[in-house]
Amino acid sequence: MIALGTDCGYKGGVNQAGLYVHVPLCAKRCPYCAFVLIESDGGLHERFVGAVLRQMERVSGEFRRVPFISLYLGGGTPSLLEPEQVARFIETARARFEACEPLEITLEANPDGIHAGRLRAFREAGVNRLSLGLQSLDDEELAFLGRTHTAAQGTAAYEAARAAGFGNVVLDVMFGVPGQTPERWTGALKRIVALAPEHVSLYGLTVENGTALGRWVKSGLSLPGEEDQKVLYEIAMDVLPENGYRHYELSNFARPGYESVHNSGYWDGRPYLGFGPGAHSYWPHRRWANVSNTRYYLRRSATGEDVTWMREELTREQRMLERAFLGLRRARGISTSSWEGEFGEPIEARFGAVIDEYRELGMLERRGDFLALTRAGRLLADSVVAKFA
Ligand code: SF4
Repeated sequence: MIALGTDCGYKGGVNQAGLYVHVPLCAKRCPYCAFVLIESDGGLHERFVGAVLRQMERVSGEFRRVPFISLYLGGGTPSLLEPEQVARFIETARARFEACEPLEITLEANPDGIHAGRLRAFREAGVNRLSLGLQSLDDEELAFLGRTHTAAQGTAAYEAARAAGFGNVVLDVMFGVPGQTPERWTGALKRIVALAPEHVSLYGLTVENGTALGRWVKSGLSLPGEEDQKVLYEIAMDVLPENGYRHYELSNFARPGYESVHNSGYWDGRPYLGFGPGAHSYWPHRRWANVSNTRYYLRRSATGEDVTWMREELTREQRMLERAFLGLRRARGISTSSWEGEFGEPIEARFGAVIDEYRELGMLERRGDFLALTRAGRLLADSVVAKFA
């Protein structure tokens, strides 16, 4: 085991790990969603909780002394679990690993089926950051996306989160939905801003293989193209910062001090341990993944078998690609001195040609120690970042 420092007092310290629990349960699969999940009416919930707790116990044998700064319950729809079940995850994580305070504990929730009483119980269980899958405040868009809530329910869920005492709320919002003109999107962003969440995460609607949306597109449905999406993204890049949200990562905007501690760990290359079907783990310098079929995960867990299926040691080349790819997602970019410290050579030694090319095109720039995407580079981030991969 690699010894990590216990610099728990320093929020965001490089040695602090994140814990992630993938909750693969949804009431109904949305037509665009390709995540690892099963539709569930509640019958599997307790088995799932037991399996994750067993995996935590098992993993803690090797990682018991790990200082962790965040616990993220993502999905799927973690808010389908009972607050008491969420409390057991939190208690076990605290008992099995070494918690750094203040610990960021995020729960992803869908607006339907939650109310202030239930949200208060999640807070009492220890959740201190709520990520609400609002997606849109337009009923037509929500219907197209196959969401099971309306705009009014989305707003009511947000208000319920405030009534329950949540002081750190993330709203997930989707762009690139058919009919979303620049004017409608600007209006939508203004309504989001008027709600005053601490954090906004933007997702461009994409077509994934094997989804209902993929089949609709094959049958002739037309979606906004790349250029349309770029226009909508650029509007968000103006409207959100004008209203006090810092564009700190390609898809994420936050009021100062409310950047996601957990997700920042991914972009900064900090270690994380993943629990639940399909969850990945990273520990310097290796990576492993849990089996992604939920029933298989539950079966293997129940019989005491290892629930992981893939393990790999990362080569130096893989680590470089990953550091570049993830670092460029951050607004501040890649620290070139940290790079040199880690790899023993300047970043230009590996990526000089592509850096020169994109600097000349005005898509990359040096800001002191950091190499970062410019505004133009962010608009074409996928293709710029792909050149580093
Ligand atoms: S609620 Fe989220 S995770 Fe569940 S099916 Fe819809 S998009 Fe996928």
